[in-house]
Amino acid sequence: MSDLNTTQGAAILPAANPPAWLGVMGGGQLGRMFAQAAQSMGYQVAVLEPADECPAGQVAQRLVNAGYSDAAGLDALAAQCLAVTTEFENVPADSLSRLAQSVFVAPDARGVSVAQDRIAEKRFFVDCAPKSGVLPAPHKVIASDADIDAIDDDLLPGILKTVRMGYDGKGQVRVRTRDDVRAAFEGMGQVTCLLEKMLPLAYEVSVLTARGADGHSVVYPIAENVHRDGILFTTTVPGPNVSNASAELAQQAAQALVAELGYVGVLCIEFFVLDDGTLVVNEMAPRPHNSGHYTMDACVTSQFAQQVRAMARLPLGDVRQHSPAVMLNILGDVWFDGETLREPAWDRILALPGANLHLYGKDDPRRGRKMGHLTLVAATLEEAQQQLQQACSILGIAP
Ligand code: ATP
Ligand code: MG
Repeated sequence: MSDLNTTQGAAILPAANPPAWLGVMGGGQLGRMFAQAAQSMGYQVAVLEPADECPAGQVAQRLVNAGYSDAAGLDALAAQCLAVTTEFENVPADSLSRLAQSVFVAPDARGVSVAQDRIAEKRFFVDCAPKSGVLPAPHKVIASDADIDAIDDDLLPGILKTVRMGYDGKGQVRVRTRDDVRAAFEGMGQVTCLLEKMLPLAYEVSVLTARGADGHSVVYPIAENVHRDGILFTTTVPGPNVSNASAELAQQAAQALVAELGYVGVLCIEFFVLDDGTLVVNEMAPRPHNSGHYTMDACVTSQFAQQVRAMARLPLGDVRQHSPAVMLNILGDVWFDGETLREPAWDRILALPGANLHLYGKDDPRRGRKMGHLTLVAATLEEAQQQLQQACSILGIAP
């Protein structure tokens, strides 16, 4: 039965055509935008999610309200759907394996488990370096006090990151000295961590790829990302700093990495470009990515439509970008005027000619919480950037 998920098995499986049911593990905004893309192609969508109110649950035809490891919930999802994907990086790999016994799962447990463990991920990047041409930041596993004693001076200053469950800069502490590492390791409850050397970043980029069950892969234009307080702030495509040489290198590396993983689905890889131009691979997400949201409004095929095509074993779509674009994340902060809650001036935002507003249906704005995003598309990048400045001023965000 698990033949369903081998490359050969998948190739002989027929495509899952609409109006079949497609399933998604996780009910967040990525699941919501996946569901919307699938539904616009005529599919029916089932979401498995433990919370009873969630962004994807509001739009899916069915919400399987169960924990990510709940056997009955997983079996219900598998029984209803012709294929299952994930929007949540930390879905237990065992759950994907259980699903894969009776339904096609893309991405599979292997791809997801490498991406959800920073040690496995770094090892994978190092092992693939001869093929991908890129290395991760110098790093060391920190699991005990003895590991801290053995830190090479060259790794400091650095960033101590928890091995699992990190996102939006959570589970990360910047450290200058061995004593800082000791204090940070204590502070994280002595869970296994990875110490990474702090690198001099010139800028950050990401590459979104999709690979089908037949082994064919596509790669989107490279995106330039700016983070604030550890959270993605803007994505600009084409990236104003990105050279053709580093774009090509990053795109080739991304395609080598997905091929090596035997991956099926959408995957995003984050890279650093250092002051001296060196490209360093940071991490990967086994799903559509925040930095790929611009594809919804600026490319022939959005990252979510691509996720549907890959899991349904349909031909992958054209990744061509038809308009320059800037994506701005909308965090809960913009609902606050000091301590007072107010609705942002969406009428003024939507008066900008290139504005595409996406809100995720979350009714509880909190500082640092992703509530939606805004993509500004225009005939030129300069126009899109000018509209970004106007949007920031309307929303009260420092540009
Ligand atoms: P997300 O899930 O939001 O992508 P994350 O919490 O998994 O983020 P990382 O991507 O590893 O964490 O790090 C977040 C940001 O911190 C990076 O985008 C980069 O700006 C900075 N950063 C991380 N590692 C390093 C490093 N080794 N040197 C310099 N800056 C770094
Ligand atoms: Mg990251």
